[in-house]
Amino acid sequence: MKTFNRNFVSQIVCLSRCLLFVLVLSLFLPCLAQQVTVPAPSEDAKFHSILGYVVYFWNFFFSSCILLAFLFFGLSAKLRDFFERVTKRKWLQCLLFLLAFVVCLHIAYLPQSYIMRFVVPHYFKLSDQSFVSWISDYTKSLFLSIEGFIEGYALLFLLIRKYERRWPIFICAYQISLVAFNLFLYPTYVAPLYNRYTAMPECVLRDKIERLAQKAQFSLDIPIMVQDASKQTKTINARVEGFGPSTRIVIWDNAINNLPEDETVAILAHEMGHYRLHHIYWNFLLTVLTSVAIVPINMIFAKRFAQMLPPKWGIRDLGDWAITPAFILVSSLFSFISTPVDNFYSRSIENQADLYALKITNNGPAFANAMIHMGGIGLDDPNVNPFVEFWLFDHPSIGKRVELANQYTLEHPMGSGDNGSGDKGRENP
Ligand SMILES: [Zn+2]
Repeated sequence: MKTFNRNFVSQIVCLSRCLLFVLVLSLFLPCLAQQVTVPAPSEDAKFHSILGYVVYFWNFFFSSCILLAFLFFGLSAKLRDFFERVTKRKWLQCLLFLLAFVVCLHIAYLPQSYIMRFVVPHYFKLSDQSFVSWISDYTKSLFLSIEGFIEGYALLFLLIRKYERRWPIFICAYQISLVAFNLFLYPTYVAPLYNRYTAMPECVLRDKIERLAQKAQFSLDIPIMVQDASKQTKTINARVEGFGPSTRIVIWDNAINNLPEDETVAILAHEMGHYRLHHIYWNFLLTVLTSVAIVPINMIFAKRFAQMLPPKWGIRDLGDWAITPAFILVSSLFSFISTPVDNFYSRSIENQADLYALKITNNGPAFANAMIHMGGIGLDDPNVNPFVEFWLFDHPSIGKRVELANQYTLEHPMGSGDNGSGDKGRENP
């Protein structure tokens, strides 16, 4: 009797264990099935990625060499002296110097701009833009860049000469208002120079986005525009741009044409995250704080910096426009050193937008697949060296973004419920 009881009890325990195992398995199997694996990068993706990293450091090295050459061989001073002989008007000397200098810089950069922006994307079949179309875009950027450069530096020298001590305050105010102004005007006046933007028509995708916004308890009061980026590239992207009333979400036509709908929804949800979490304003605030922090540095060190420059460079004082290459060199050095800090901040806000997208779509697999498709088409290596990611990446690597989506799916076992399609699923946060 005792033996029978023992056998019976052990069979019950065994059966319970089996049931528990099946229960646990049934809970986790759907999540495990939804885990997305990052494919190994192609040889092209590895090569393309490494080329991108090398070019970043090469650009810094090359531009530093050009600027140092201008100073070291006294070219900057010679250019200033030349225009002093051309005209007696100081303001005209300044404008002509700046124009000649910036044109020289662009001529020096032209071969590598052509290689990196035209030859390389065509070599990797990332673009089928014609040369005529490319040179037209390049020329527009060139004019905008030259105009901005001359305007900024001419004002700088005017202020330095007029307000010997207070010029950093005025320059700070100018920088802040310029950034706000450019952000505000970019969608209306600059972006249409290169592409056509059309409002996303009433369609299933648009319905899904609006339903997502409703679920996240906000009304989508900014336009969603489609950019015909396919005329320049085959890669996929989206962004939030503008400032205040000009804010809008932009998605490239390549995404709509090449990705499954739920993946495009995931990408747009990421952009909605940027908008809802006010990242444009946080970025602007950071610009304001950086500009303000530089004011005392300029007040204390700028004059001494000009006095410390070697006499053989021929720079007279801080208000001498021949100092321009030294200004650019210092700001480019500052920007190079601060790149990891900037990118750390950028990756953290991208991570917030990723999490926002995962929460409102509740579709980890779609998000992960969107990242894999974006990276695959753009020939990005999904798993990058930690140092490269730390220094160069303003977004988390594809591998990390997929990992985040997989983790989200594991932690939210009800899985890929409502992605805005109206299917049943988890409630939004
Ligand atoms: Zn983003």
